Amino acid sequence: MRATIVEVAPRDGFQPIGPFIPTEEKVAFVEAAHAAGLRRIEIGSFVNPKAVPQLRDTAEVLRQTAHLPGLDAQILVPNARGVALALEAGARHLVYVISASEAHNRSNVRRDVDTSTREYGGVVAGLPAGVKVRLNLATAFDCPFDGRMEEALVLERLARMLAHRVDVEVGLCDTTGRADPDHVASLVERCLARWGETTRWVFHGHDTYGLGLANVAAAWRAGITAFDAAFGGLGGCPFAPGATGNTATEDLAWMFRRMGVETGADFDALVRLANRAAALPGASPGGRVRAALAGACAAS
Ligand code: ZN
Repeated sequence: MRATIVEVAPRDGFQPIGPFIPTEEKVAFVEAAHAAGLRRIEIGSFVNPKAVPQLRDTAEVLRQTAHLPGLDAQILVPNARGVALALEAGARHLVYVISASEAHNRSNVRRDVDTSTREYGGVVAGLPAGVKVRLNLATAFDCPFDGRMEEALVLERLARMLAHRVDVEVGLCDTTGRADPDHVASLVERCLARWGETTRWVFHGHDTYGLGLANVAAAWRAGITAFDAAFGGLGGCPFAPGATGNTATEDLAWMFRRMGVETGADFDALVRLANRAAALPGASPGGRVRAALAGACAAS
């Protein structure tokens, strides 16, 4: 049994942090995550730098981490312009984000879901050979504005997106952290029943309500084997009010280790990395394992 952790702290985790993290420090974090055994890392995004100034140096981070052996660097893009900038910067793996909810899509990328879906169709049709694409379905479970997302509606919108190209990876994103394990299992089962043979799946969860790991476990039991997580539990979406950190990478690694599931990660190195990340000025870290281990040391 093997689970893949996709490290998203350098994008989802860093983006809400106010004080600018110097480029060399971002690069050092990516290098440390790579050294801890993580190979899939979302290292930044090409979005409007006025909206997310923290990630304005993504091109440089991409360039300075390109030498890391086996690194699969993902770049988040919200529109065709982001795609063009990412390709120009040398990106080989794009994460195109569309929300399942109209209200969140408008707030996040300033257009309706249909427009985003059409633009996505044009993008995937015109990608250079060898460039991988992942579709991030934000608010797949819950929207900060519209509340719980009806599964039938989510599947219908997803079907329109996958009609453009089905052999992609889809990230089912619990953007607000309000999904629960039953909801996660239900949507994952329906997606896998319909597109399990043609499409690869990732679960992206936030730990806002303390259900991050429970939701990961539910997705795993339902058949998903890849999971987004952020070291130190960093995160929060600037366009999803109230959303806090991603499920912590070290918590995921701990859980899978206890379950006897291989992740390829060096757990102790991950904890050191998480502690470094938690100390970043302006960060609001999360996760439980760091504190539990610190307590265990003090008590022994
Ligand atoms: Zn997120």
